[in-house]
Amino acid sequence: MEHKIKRIILLGPQGAGKTTQAERIEQFLDINILLAGGVLRQEIKSKSEFGLKIAEIVNSGGLIPDQWMIDLMVQNLNKEEYKNGFILDGFPRSVTQAKYLDEKTKIKIDKVFNIEISDEEAVERLSNRRVCPNGHIFHLLYKLPKKEGLCDTCNLALEQRADDTPETVLKRLKIYRNETSKLLDYYHQQKKLVVFNGSESIELVSDDILNYLKAHVR
Ligand code: AMP
Repeated sequence: MEHKIKRIILLGPQGAGKTTQAERIEQFLDINILLAGGVLRQEIKSKSEFGLKIAEIVNSGGLIPDQWMIDLMVQNLNKEEYKNGFILDGFPRSVTQAKYLDEKTKIKIDKVFNIEISDEEAVERLSNRRVCPNGHIFHLLYKLPKKEGLCDTCNLALEQRADDTPETVLKRLKIYRNETSKLLDYYHQQKKLVVFNGSESIELVSDDILNYLKAHVR
């Protein structure tokens, strides 16, 4: 049984649960996640020349210029580990980035999953989000770590992302609604968009997504 959908883009407001659902899809389809924000945060942490250039933009919730982002992500997508498929989380985030993928590369997208939640819910979820330095995600109300303040996997101290403060979250949501949501029309026109209700529990949303994938096999 071979799955038809192997090159997936995840869209949805910040806090919709994209990264959590990406991990479930990754296990189910045995393909790898490419997390745009993760690649950027890694660059910032390593204090590379690029990392120093982008730190302020990322920490204040702005968008990295399209061409920088495109170069970085296309370079990553061409790696061997993404040859059999991928889940793209956080890229593309503008129509310019999406068009570049379609028109200037051989990278073909099968489906775009939009996990939708309201702005109120996004703010509530992100202000309670805590992450470990390796990117494992917890929530002070819905996904508590076993030991208070420590990652279940790494045992490292949990922290709040620099861009998860209320003002920055509102700025990121505004950018999402103004900019990134244009991608919804773009992929709808290509008949690739599938919408999931992200306000349900993590389990219910992943059931919906995995059921959709199970229905699309050769
Ligand atoms: P995320 O972890 O996906 O919320 O991304 C964190 C931050 O990284 C964003 O607020 C942007 O500053 C930057 N970023 C991530 N992906 C992109 C992208 N595709 N285009 C521009 N900036 C991005």
